[in-house]
Amino acid sequence: MSETADVVVIGGGCNGASIAFHLAEGKAGRVVLLEKGALASGPTGRSTAIVRQHYSNQVTARMALDSLRVFQQWEDRVGGTCGFVRTGFLVGVRGGDRTALEGNVALQRGVGIDVRLVGADELRRLEPQLFAEDLVAGAYEPEAGYCDPVSTTTSFAEAARGRGARIVQGREVTAIRIERGRVAGVETAAGSVAAPVVVVAAGPWARRLVDGVGVALPIEPSRHPVCAFRRPPEFGRAPMIYADFVNQFYMRPETGDLCLVGSIDPGDAAHLADPDTYNAGVDLDTITDFGGRVSRRFPVLERGFSRGGWAGVYDVTPDWHPIIDRIDELPGLHVVAGTSGHGFKLSPAVGALVARLVSEGRRDPALEFFRADRFRAGRLIRGKYDYSIVG
Ligand SMILES: Cc1cc2nc3c(=O)[nH]c(=O)nc-3n(C[C@H](O)[C@H](O)[C@H](O)COP(=O)(O)OP(=O)(O)OC[C@H]3O[C@@H](n4cnc5c(N)ncnc54)[C@H](O)[C@@H]3O)c2cc1C
Repeated sequence: MSETADVVVIGGGCNGASIAFHLAEGKAGRVVLLEKGALASGPTGRSTAIVRQHYSNQVTARMALDSLRVFQQWEDRVGGTCGFVRTGFLVGVRGGDRTALEGNVALQRGVGIDVRLVGADELRRLEPQLFAEDLVAGAYEPEAGYCDPVSTTTSFAEAARGRGARIVQGREVTAIRIERGRVAGVETAAGSVAAPVVVVAAGPWARRLVDGVGVALPIEPSRHPVCAFRRPPEFGRAPMIYADFVNQFYMRPETGDLCLVGSIDPGDAAHLADPDTYNAGVDLDTITDFGGRVSRRFPVLERGFSRGGWAGVYDVTPDWHPIIDRIDELPGLHVVAGTSGHGFKLSPAVGALVARLVSEGRRDPALEFFRADRFRAGRLIRGKYDYSIVG
């Protein structure tokens, strides 16, 4: 069976679904999204889905702010639910990172983000269980929170469907079709879909797909565990989201008196993983390691206990920033991948930018930043901290 479309989106994670929604909303013609499993069955469904705006560059900070506004007004803007829970976000730093922190907070305030510098005393006041003796300053972002990544994705997809897009689950793209030097559609076991535009939003599988048409992307999939700990009653009220550059972890509250803990050690990118066969559980060593890190900052958690965890896959680029671009050598081919462990929070803005790129055929200035050829050209995006994983 052969079908036709104006745009095929490959991948039903938060980005693919957001792109389909924005394309359908912008009346980009017949939009078909093909997902090999179920919507959000890849890294999106395993995401801790933290929505903070703490970035070291204006482009990404602004995208995070624009996306936050969408999450906050989800019902009106998209429909359904994204499950946004406002918690606030706090990051504390030691002496060596103070200048970078001050620079980042000034940059973020410059783009309109509600964030302020706080001293060690205020850090303790904001988060009473925090051990702050080794910290000199912090940044406090009161509007931050987290979402339900599965609901976010399914509501984007439902809203896209309501605007005429076709959302197909359980249909894997086996190849991108090229004819006369440009994109002509995709192949699947259930037949081909002819289309002049293909957007590859296939997360850690993206590299393999575009390899097949001779495009090399520097994306390495790596395994990233998340551990859940039950907070003891003496913890008191649920904590904010906290990012710790000293012990290299992030933590966010979860229902059931839990907190979820993951690593922000850039060295974790060395844990290469095949997204089809990786170990999706967590072992005792990881639970002990993450429990130790989080208890150094929140000592009361020594009296908490493990509730297990899971692991997901990041699609990491050399500068920990995504590729959001069209591939000039193969007209019609677009790539949104390499979201490097922080791409959930940006997904509303990414969808809007990609829909404009497809419809208008020219790169928004923001997209110059995320060009696929920046690695070859040596124009990597650099953060102000050593911890580029935070952006
Ligand atoms: C453990 C973990 C914690 C995270 N925490 C955060 C966080 O707190 N905040 C944040 O902003 N980000 C976070 N992230 C990152 C964020 O979740 C990802 O950047 C984002 O979900 C990527 O979405 P995506 O749509 O680009 O790709 P994916 O979620 O990878 O979706 C790609 C989809 O494409 C499908 N697919 C692949 N190949 C094919 C094919 N050939 N044919 C059809 N379909 C195909 C897959 O099945 C998959 O559903 C985290 C990620 C992980 C793993």
